Formats: sequence, C-alpha cells, structure tokens
Amino acid sequence: MSQKAIVVGSGIAGLASSIRLAQRGIETHVFEANDFPGGKINSRSIGGYRFDQGPSLLTCPEYLEELYILCGRDFADFELAELNSSFKYFFNDGVELELKHDRDQIINELSEKLGEDRETVEKYLNKAEKNYELIAPLFIERSLHRWRHLLGGKLRKALASLPSYKLMSTMHQENKRNFKNPRTVQIFNRFAQYNGSHPYKAPAMLNMISHLEINTTPYLPKRGMIQVTESLVELAQESGVQFHFNEAVEEIIVENKTIKGVRTTKGVYKSDFVISNMDISFTYEKLLPTAKRPKKILAQEKSSSAIAFYWGVKKSFEQLEVHNMLFSDEDQEEFDAVFIEKEMHDSPSIYIYISSKSVEGDAPEGCENWFILINAPINQGQDWDKHIDDTRTYVQQRVGALLGEEIAPLIEVEEVLDPRKVETRYSGKFGSIYGNASNNRFSAFYRHPNYSKEIKGLYFAGVSVHPGGGIPLALSSAKIACECLFEDDQNSVK
Ligand SMILES: Cc1cc2nc3c(=O)[nH]c(=O)nc-3n(C[C@H](O)[C@H](O)[C@H](O)COP(=O)(O)OP(=O)(O)OC[C@H]3O[C@@H](n4cnc5c(N)ncnc54)[C@H](O)[C@@H]3O)c2cc1C
Repeated sequence: MSQKAIVVGSGIAGLASSIRLAQRGIETHVFEANDFPGGKINSRSIGGYRFDQGPSLLTCPEYLEELYILCGRDFADFELAELNSSFKYFFNDGVELELKHDRDQIINELSEKLGEDRETVEKYLNKAEKNYELIAPLFIERSLHRWRHLLGGKLRKALASLPSYKLMSTMHQENKRNFKNPRTVQIFNRFAQYNGSHPYKAPAMLNMISHLEINTTPYLPKRGMIQVTESLVELAQESGVQFHFNEAVEEIIVENKTIKGVRTTKGVYKSDFVISNMDISFTYEKLLPTAKRPKKILAQEKSSSAIAFYWGVKKSFEQLEVHNMLFSDEDQEEFDAVFIEKEMHDSPSIYIYISSKSVEGDAPEGCENWFILINAPINQGQDWDKHIDDTRTYVQQRVGALLGEEIAPLIEVEEVLDPRKVETRYSGKFGSIYGNASNNRFSAFYRHPNYSKEIKGLYFAGVSVHPGGGIPLALSSAKIACECLFEDDQNSVK
C-alpha cells in the first residue's frame, strides 16, 4: 500500500521536505495556513514596487542545488545575479567600506581603511573557512541526536581541532583579540545576526559564519529572493506534491503513540507521517496539546526579531548598493537592549536592501525599493506602535544625513513588519525570526531533534529545531528530518 505524508507549513523547510518525500515515492500533501507559499520568504507588490518580505542574503546555494539534482534538474536554471559588491558599510564618522566579491580586495579594504594587519585578517579568514568545513558536515548537516550519524573520520577530525574553536570565548572577545580597530570588530560581530544572536554572548565558534560572506559571497537570485520559493514550489509540483493553501492544521492526530493524520480547518486527512514546519513551541502548544513536552528545550532563549520598513522611494541613490549597513556607534548597547532589556535601542544599526538595483522591474524607472531592517527584541507586549514611529523617525534622520536629502517626502508607499506580525503571519513564537538564539556554548545541543522520541511517524523541520536559523540551516533541517524518517521506515520493515 502506498505511503502518505503530510507537511504542516510551506516555509522553505516544509517545501524542501515535501520535495524529498515525493521524490521517495511517498504521496505528499502540504497544508499552509496562509494563501501564499514560502513562509518568511515571500514577496509583495505595492504601487509599482516589489518587496522581498524576509531574507535578502542567500548563502550556501549548494543546499538548493542538492534539491535540483534530486529532481533531475540542472541548477544552472536557477540563475544568480551578478552584484557590484557584496556589502557597503557606513560608519557615523564618515568611514565607508565597499566589500567586493574578492577576498584580496576585502583584505586590502580592511587594511587601508581600518588599519588592519593583512596577515592577521588572512589568518582569521583561513581559520573561519577551516572551522566551517570541519563543523558544518557534523553540526549542520547531521542529526546531533542520533550518534551513529556522527561517528566516523569527520568527527575525529573536528574533535582534533577543538582548541581552535575557542569554546570558552565569545565572538566579540575573539574579534577584539584579532583586530585593532573597533570598527573591524563591529563588522565581524555582525555575523551573529545571521542567526539572531548576541555577539557578546554567542560562542567564538560562530565567527566561522564570516566565511560565508567574505571567503565566499552572499548571493542574490536573478529575480530576487522570491525566486527561492518559486523554484522550490515548481520542483515540488513537478515531483507530485499537492498543496492546500488557506488551510491551517489544527491538530496532529495521534493514536497509541503513532501518527494517524491531521485535522485542518476544512477536514480530517489520514497519513503515515507528519513533518511539522510550524514553530516547535506552537506545534506542541497548538497541535499536540496533550503530548509530553520537552520543557527544557522549549524554554531556551529565542533569537531576536525585527522591525522592517518597506519603502517605495521616488529617487535613486548612487551612494547605496544592493546591501548596505549603517553601523551604530553603540554596538554592545544595541545588542544588550535587544536581548537583555527587551527594548529597541534608540540609535541602532540600519540595514538597507535595494533589490531594484539588480532586479529589473522591482521599482518604477528612477525609483528604488528600500527594505530597511532594524534588530528588535522578541514580542513581550512592548508598545510596538511607538517603537515603529520612533524607529521610522530615527532611520529617516540617519539615512537623510548620509545621503544629504530629506527622506520622508520621497516615500511613496510604506509597509511595516514588526515582531507581532512575525508571530501571527509566520507563526514564529514571540516573533522570533531564527528560532532559538545561540547565546551560549550549549545552544546547539538544546535545539529540538528533527524527530519525535515519543510519537512514531512525527518529524520536525524548520528554524526552531536542529540545526537552527537561516535558509541554509532550514534546508538542512529538512534533509535531516527526511533522512531520519526514511531510516525509521526502513527499520520498521526489517
Ligand atoms: C525580515 C527577515 C529577514 C531575514 N533575513 C534572512 C537572510 O537574509 N538570510 C537568511 O538565510 N535568512 C533570513 N531570515 C530567516 C529566514 O527567513 C528563515 O530562517 C527561514 O525562511 C525560515 O524557514 P522555515 O522553514 O523555518 O519556515 P517559516 O518561514 O517560518 O514558515 C513556516 C510556515 O508554516 C506555516 N504554518 C505555521 N503553522 C501552521 C499550521 N498550523 N498549519 C499550516 N501552516 C502553518 C506558516 O504560515 C509559514 O508559512 C530572515 C527572516 C526575516 C523575517
């Protein structure tokens, strides 16, 4: 008899899981609460401007390529844009750095503009690469909860390099030890934001994230980030996956500790397997209210959230690139406000992403689509309407001062994202964007496994479970969840 699987949610991990299941010959249905696929990776058009709503930086496209290969498709079909530079950094004192897609040029820039020693930077980047290559295959691409998946030469090699991970230091301590100029430290501390963490608390091992942006490069798909969702939906449909939009799952049905199916807003569907792409806390609270909860795991500190402004701006600015960062003068204070005081800082760093500089048609002629992202704490009932107003005023002043132009009169359309919306639109607990934060040495071990230890046939994929937040890790979680499912299925046949 043919097997049937249900995926709860069409975030990137839900889409990737559905492709893997369908390619295995399992009848696969994806139920999505929203009327659009992709979860946080979606896109909206307002008044002639198109805005990627969530991610703007694509790293590790090889995880997408794997899905193309699995479906017998050529990854060359997934066209990437060619950008002038990977990032432009602005400091308040007028120092500007443009990071080109070339490691030597980046080292030159850090040496010439910030006085860093070339050899030190080179050594730092080599170490980031080495650590990434040792750690990723184990901590990112395997289940940490099935030891036999980890054993082997790769584990021995990774353990042999333990001292180089500086397990007792934080990202900031290591960056401060390596670089002379506090601005360089701030640039490298920023990589903690890749998974919504605090660089003064996150372990130094996470400095390896810089490898993905500096040794390699952040990518942008040719049609913008929405292309990621569109192409995975296409692969899923070609593989036979059936989508049910506007149909939230309300219960995962379990009998005798075994999956029986789901109850949605429209009916009951039987299945042999369920993969939940819903936030793990909400999966337990809302879909499995009587199941035993892993309390310690669910109580872990959450990643940060964000306030984002999507502005249609009726002018174009040569000073800005596709990816821009206007750094705050108060690095630690900003992260302390977000993670400890759970408040907005009053002069935070500002990230501006302008896809229309690369993607034709994303803004009317002579105009630009600005996506402005500011770090915010998780939603604890703060006065978000006031925070949004204050942040808007601050951003307009700071960006206006940089560009020598009043910004408010240039804004034709506006949409705003805040932690409340992240929570309701994507079901992210407290509006956290990346699941759990990585603010201590043991965070990696306190993420939920990609399978249930209590319920046969139940698996989990997405940023709130192992291995964590961001597109590459979400794709990896889907792969691990499916590998565990296929392994359990085979063992049950034996
Ligand atoms: C503003 C912003 C900027 C970001 N920038 C980057 C970046 O530059 N690079 C990067 O790599 N990452 C970035 N991220 C993070 C990245 O978007 C996420 O890590 C990733 O997309 C999360 O994928 P996911 O599979 O966990 O699911 P999600 O995107 O969280 O989707 C979950 C889906 O499940 C659905 N769902 C939930 N409950 C139910 C239910 N009961 N029934 C049916 N459906 C349900 C939801 O509607 C949603 O569609 C950013 C995120 C945001 C919000």
